[in-house]
This record gives sequence, C-alpha cells and structure tokens, in this order.
Amino acid sequence: MRRSTVLAGLAATATAPAIASAASGGADLIVTASTIHTVDAKVPQAQAFAVRDGRFVYVGSREGALALRGARTRMLDLGGATVLPGLIDAHLHFMHVGQALHEVDLAHLTPFDEVVRRTVAFAATSPDLWIIGDGWDQNLWPDKAFPTHQALSAAIPDRPVVLIRVDGHALLANAKAMALAGVGDATADPSGGRIVRDEHGAPTGVFIDNAKALIQRAIPPPTHPQLVRAAVAGLAECHRWGLTAISDPGVGQATIDAYLELARGGRYTLRNHVMLAGSDDALTAHYLERGPQPLAGNGRLAIRAIKLYADGALGSRGAALLAPYDDDPGNTGLVLTAPSKIQDVAIRALRAGFQVCTHAIGDRGNRAVLDAYEAALRAVPRRDHRLRVEHAQVLAPSDIPRFKALGVIPSMQTTHQISDMGWAQARLGPERVKGAYAWRSLLDSGVTIANGTDAPIEVVDSRRTFHAAISRQNETNQPPGGWYPRQRMTRDEALRSMTVWAARANFMDAVAGSITPGKYADFAVLDRDWMRAAPEAIMATRILATYVSGAQVYEAPMQSAMTGFRARGRRGGSCCRGAHA
Ligand SMILES: [Zn+2]
Repeated sequence: MRRSTVLAGLAATATAPAIASAASGGADLIVTASTIHTVDAKVPQAQAFAVRDGRFVYVGSREGALALRGARTRMLDLGGATVLPGLIDAHLHFMHVGQALHEVDLAHLTPFDEVVRRTVAFAATSPDLWIIGDGWDQNLWPDKAFPTHQALSAAIPDRPVVLIRVDGHALLANAKAMALAGVGDATADPSGGRIVRDEHGAPTGVFIDNAKALIQRAIPPPTHPQLVRAAVAGLAECHRWGLTAISDPGVGQATIDAYLELARGGRYTLRNHVMLAGSDDALTAHYLERGPQPLAGNGRLAIRAIKLYADGALGSRGAALLAPYDDDPGNTGLVLTAPSKIQDVAIRALRAGFQVCTHAIGDRGNRAVLDAYEAALRAVPRRDHRLRVEHAQVLAPSDIPRFKALGVIPSMQTTHQISDMGWAQARLGPERVKGAYAWRSLLDSGVTIANGTDAPIEVVDSRRTFHAAISRQNETNQPPGGWYPRQRMTRDEALRSMTVWAARANFMDAVAGSITPGKYADFAVLDRDWMRAAPEAIMATRILATYVSGAQVYEAPMQSAMTGFRARGRRGGSCCRGAHA
C-alpha cells in the first residue's frame, strides 16, 4: 500500500488515482463478476474493476478494465458471484471480539456436567493461567438451579476459573479463583450485589451483579502478547464477514499498542477508526494535545475520536428516559456522564479537531447529548464535525429532526432491534416505542445512519445486520411482517449504512466505502446478490472472500463455510468485562 500520497490529507487523495496504463505495466489486479454493486451513485453497477498499488484505478466495463491488462496483471473472474465494497461496522468492540475467541463458549450447553467437561477440555489447550468462559444458562438444565463450584473446583483445582452467565449478570468461580480473590465466608455482600451462599454461609461460587467485581478484580489485565493474540483473532473474525473497516469504541493505550505492533509488521489488515475511552481523562488529554492522527499504524489506524457514555442500557433499565419505565414506574434510568462533562469534552474535542461519539440509549440520554453538542457547537462552530450519537435507540419525536439540524450522525445497530423486540415495548409502552430503533423516521428527516453491531454484544455476522435492516425480523424471520415494519430500511439504504454512510461517520469516505477510482481496493465477494435475494435467503449467504487494498485477507473454506459459526453475541446484559453497559 502506498501512503506517501495521502499524507496531505485523506480528502485530497481520492481524486488522484494511480496511472495504470498497459504501457506502464498495467493493473496489479483486474476483477470481473456478474454483479458489482459499487455504492457509487456515478457508476452504481459495474462489470469489472482494476486495482493498482492497493487502489481502484478503473471501475466500469469489462473492456475498459481489460485495456489495463499488462504482463504482470493478475486476473480474477468471480463468475456469478456478487461484489460489494468492503463492509464497514461503525461500532464494534474489536479487542473484546478477539478476546472472546480465547474464552470457552458455554452457550446452549446442558446439563451443568457438560459445562464442566467443556471447560476442562478448553483448559487443556489454553496457555493462560486464568480460564474465562461465558454463556451458561441454568434454565436449560434439568433442575434449573444455580450451579455450585464443587464439581468445577474438583475438575480444575490448580487454575482459577471464571464462567459468566449468558446475560452477564452472574458468574461462577471455582475455589482457586475465590482464593486468589480473597473471597470467603466472611466476605460481605456489596451494595447492588449478592454472594450466593450455602446453608453454612459459605459462597457457592455464584456471584451476582455488583458481587461479580469481587472476583473479576483479581483477574490480571491482559498482557501485551495476549492483546496482540486477541487482535489477530479479531482480524480473522471481521474479515470472515466481509468487513474491511470498523469503528472501535472505548479504546485505551494498551489496546492501541497492540494494534500498532501488528500494523508495524504489516499485519493489521483492517481500517480502524479508534474511539478513545473518554472515561480516561489522561488518555484523552494526551491525544487532544497531540492532535488528530488520521494515519497512525501504517495508515490503518485513525486516532481522532473520543467515546463517552450518556446513560446505561435498556435491557437492564439503565437507559435514561424522560418518563419512568412502563415496567418499573419508579425508575427513569441512569445518567453515567454529566451533560456538562459531555459539553466540555465536545468543546475541547472540536477545538482540537477531534470527533465525539457518545453512547445514548434512552430519550433523556439522547436529548442530553444533543443539548450538549448544540451548546458545544455554538461555542466552537465547525462545519464538518461529524459528532455522533452511538445507538440513538429511543428518541422523543421532537428530537428526531435535531440530528439533521445539528449535523449529528446517528450510529445505530440494526441487530439490536431484533434482539430487543421481545421486551422493548414492555419497557417503553406502546407510544414511546414508536421512537425506538426509528431508522425510517431518521432517514426521512434527511440524515444518514452508520450501521454496526456493537459486537461482541451482538455477533459480527454482517448478514444479520443487513437482514435485520431490511426486514425488522430475526434470523428465523419472526415476527411475520416484521416488528414495526414501517421503520425498515430499503436494501439500498441498508447497504449504504454498512458502507458509505459508515465510512462517512468514520471520516473514511474519501478513501473507503465504495468501489470508486482512487479509493482503497477494499471489497467483499458474496455468493448471492443482497439487492435481489429473498430476505429469508440472506442469512444463508456465503461470504466467499474479502480483500483489503487489493490483497486477499479471507477466503471461504471449500464447503459449508458458514454452518459451523459460533453465535457469540448476546443482549440484555453487560459485556463480559463490564466495559459496556
Ligand atoms: Zn458498544
């Protein structure tokens, strides 16, 4: 990948494609396929494209591309496959995705003996001292009772084990973990938490809500090699679903260091728009002082955004609402960051050329963020600020047009709607729910939506993101007709939300998000056309290959590539490391 030409700024380079005439040696790669959706309004469909020095240099007809064929040009005929621009996930906790791949997956296992057996088998292959797992659910077991640690402690006596329940609200620790954490009969229950005890008052190994921290604080932070290992796994997981770029919310220095190490060796094969953890004042002050770094890590990392939290989540009734929860009349949710702090960070960020991306789920949380952004923009007017609201999940009707008016980008996750639809109306009631997951209302107000998954809260699977966007139905096409189907996206909008619109939210639109001459040659190859396939066929799509800067970073195994995938996402609880409400 050549970067010398992009140092002057990303926007300037998109119009300066490399010269790739046949006389100069021609293109590095020419791709032909029956269907190429460029997501570029100027040439929406193409038969072929040519790549040189990692960028598209021609997009259009077969003949036009073949004219750039030289002696060393590689030809790739994809036949009946469909090519899309590399997909972009605008909200994906990359390191957590990678770390989860080094934990034991206990989802759907029954009975508890099977959980123990799987954990023992995993421990035998894990080089780590601490064995972490997640996904157990006692409701699947014959007696439906919480487990106790004895069988686990007997099977793994010498290494600490922590197994998190499917909803993230409880964990099971073995004896070694409890000993290392210094937890015993005398340990008191913390406020907001419970240590489950036997008839003698001894902990059974199950720790609920705030009591989880008694154990979790004993888990050493991941080492640098562990973070690098997790990042390598995360790259493979992203590319497997056609992703070539992401935005990564709430990142700290140790994580950035792992990315930089891989990038130095040319091994960081994803474009990552990093959002710094706004809870770390020293971290944000350091980077605000240095200024935006749009091309860190060999150009693969952009460090120019800060992530804040306005409120909690809807599942645990922590989202801040203007009126009480319908199913909890005394509760209006939690404010996690004072609006004055959001405003202050936004002012400092705007002055330094940084973007602010604030998590807001409830209508009160969203209004507080819009108010804070409005005040910050009055103090520091900026034309192309691209301030973002992450989730924008429940909106008061009067706040919907404010996104357009202020130029604020809603960064939403279409799969949250299908994960939440079973209980969202109980929380919100029949009127307020109309402003929830309100993609159509926002699009009709004139904004674009950046789509993402919030993985590992949801699975990385891009098919699910697209399918939810166009159907408002889950993977098994329920409910019939879709949940509040008026709020669906069109297929064209859904694809844009996963490409050019996400690119814009990530300040990547000059170089990524569409198959356009001058942009990086990032693309995904699918076995079917998402613009035409029946909605119920979308989830059976095989992602055949993924390319970043013209280089292949993923190729599907020969047979039934997608049948064995592990569905690691879950909703309603907090992320396993408590990093995400
Ligand atoms: Zn998140």
